[in-house]
Amino acid sequence: MRGAGRFAPTPTGRLHLGNVRTALLAWLWARASGIPNILRVEDLDPAAVPAGALEGIYTDLDWLGLVYDEEPRKGGPAGPYQQSARFDLYTAPLERLNAMGLLYPCGCSRKEVAQAGLAPHAGDEGPIYPGTCRPAAPAPLDSLSPIVLPNGRRAALRLNVPAALERLGTGPLVGFDDAVCGRVEMDAVALGDFVVRRTDSLAAYQLACAWDDVEMGCTQVLRGLDLLTSAVRQVLLLRLLSRPLPQYAHVGLVLTPTGDKLSKRDDAIAVEALRRGGEAPERILARLAGISALPETGDLARLTSAFAVAPAWRESVRLSP
Ligand code: GLU
Repeated sequence: MRGAGRFAPTPTGRLHLGNVRTALLAWLWARASGIPNILRVEDLDPAAVPAGALEGIYTDLDWLGLVYDEEPRKGGPAGPYQQSARFDLYTAPLERLNAMGLLYPCGCSRKEVAQAGLAPHAGDEGPIYPGTCRPAAPAPLDSLSPIVLPNGRRAALRLNVPAALERLGTGPLVGFDDAVCGRVEMDAVALGDFVVRRTDSLAAYQLACAWDDVEMGCTQVLRGLDLLTSAVRQVLLLRLLSRPLPQYAHVGLVLTPTGDKLSKRDDAIAVEALRRGGEAPERILARLAGISALPETGDLARLTSAFAVAPAWRESVRLSP
């Protein structure tokens, strides 16, 4: 398999310094490893993409000088590079999971899951699904056509995680070696049965992202630590689908100089606002390199030669004022 690194933004708004730091580290890692950089647009939900958002991301990345070898505007051997053009490609993995008897329809609304769900701490997917619709005896569904339940609701498809683990013959712990965090192991049952196909019959993030990473030959996946529980779910999917794991690297969040979470509404951290305010792109890259144990320079060639994955990236970092 060829290797590649990737940056996979969801175009819901303009890039902020947290996104750019992830993009920069992922870009440098691939460059330093001599493999192509892919820009994959995760617009699985085209209705959630505001007009102009994708163009805004292109403008920001171009201005910063983060050039991608393969991306939607250029194409490349692993395209298309926009998930909205890849919907058909997610049918094959869904069919395989179904043939294993691991999918089941679920008509619970978000509100119902929130009310019955457990431990809302496990972040990225919201409250943990308590298994309300999980069948007692897992079996393949007759077909993967859209399912309308007797109450008129359209069903999502969830992965039966306990049955999946039984099939793999492993215990509940799903683990992988992360280049930044070291060994990661989590109880996948405790993370709940997650959605792999949404109620609109389109693939859900976990499935599309994991599948695209292998199909596009991505061997490096560097992204925010907020996606660590997603990584566990994606590792489980890839094991079930007998696909190799990429090398994951999850990096801590970027915080404001006062230690608050970055907010998309805060102009001080939006690339576009900094550009309008006269800040040079090299200065932005230098600031982000400086808080990432790299030389404080915006020279991408210098940063590439100085690049090394650092365990310290696990910690949250504050922007310099
Ligand atoms: N599209 C996701 C996001 O913007 C990131 C997915 C990933 O890097 O795996 O949050």
